[in-house]
Amino acid sequence: MGDSVTDVAAGDRVVLSFNSCGRCTSCRTGRPTACGTYFPLNFQAARPDGTTPIRTPEGAPLGGLFFGQSSLARYAVVSAQSVVRVDGADDDEFALLVPVGCGIQTGAGAILNLLRPEHGDSVAVFGAGAVGLSAVMAARLTAARTIVSVDVVPWRLALATELGATHTVNSGTEDLGRCLADSAGPTGVTHVLETTGVSSLTELASTAIAANGTVAVIGAPTAGSRASFDISALIDGRTVCGVTEGGSDRITFIPALIDLAAPRTLAVREVRPLLRRGRAPPAVRDATCGGLRTRLTCEHRSNAGRGARVTACGTPRSAAGRSPGSALLRRGPYAQFPPVSVAPL
Ligand SMILES: [Zn+2]
Repeated sequence: MGDSVTDVAAGDRVVLSFNSCGRCTSCRTGRPTACGTYFPLNFQAARPDGTTPIRTPEGAPLGGLFFGQSSLARYAVVSAQSVVRVDGADDDEFALLVPVGCGIQTGAGAILNLLRPEHGDSVAVFGAGAVGLSAVMAARLTAARTIVSVDVVPWRLALATELGATHTVNSGTEDLGRCLADSAGPTGVTHVLETTGVSSLTELASTAIAANGTVAVIGAPTAGSRASFDISALIDGRTVCGVTEGGSDRITFIPALIDLAAPRTLAVREVRPLLRRGRAPPAVRDATCGGLRTRLTCEHRSNAGRGARVTACGTPRSAAGRSPGSALLRRGPYAQFPPVSVAPL
């Protein structure tokens, strides 16, 4: 535990989330995703000085701190900024809360913090993974009249209906543009949340939204991907914007989500990920092909589930070697780290 860490103590149960500097105007006014160092702190896979807290058993540096944490390893060294205490949860409850700090926060936050649909609005959510389904559940908490879930996997669409979608569209077999127009009615779709990373869907969304509507883009296609749209469509107030982590202030928003999950207002149990320990590769493969079921038992728990094993470092410690993070960064923010085993620190 770093000397300057005061908000948590060894043994506290915490969930992990993204990192930010904690000192700039954005961070100090509840907008940490607007922090000027957000990108390098979360995607450089290293500390600001370029060092990394993770090494191979032979001592070679490995990228760490991805999204501020790299918490698929058995142990994680994280910034105190990435830690949110979770008080009062028993073991079962805590296992459900692990994904709240990323995917659930991202989908729900995009709706509740950014788009904020009002009475009579129509919301379309592209993609029905954990992020998209969390957005559907959050939209159900608003006064939006229509909530459209779009995906290509039938069982995901069925689950979206259970969680609050008023309409579903299988964009693999149906005309998405026509279906959006039919479901939204004369006002058109006022809000689109794009979670798939498919560039053509961002283009479609920009033409499908109503005047003064907003397209919020969460999905992350390959770095350098382009989408085009008719600029004249912006004249009557249409907006296309990006959003990360739901534009959330994790310190206040994660506890709010946990409060919503307790009475099952947010059905976190239904969208939590399947990630059995040691089975990450097949889980990733299943997710890619749409086969990842959400109702199966989650055996993986974040390092945060073993509170005393989390070392929160308020002041980055020096480490031997330079991080490969900058090279990874050049290949795109979501470049995969090499599949190596990580020794306990
Ligand atoms: Zn900051």
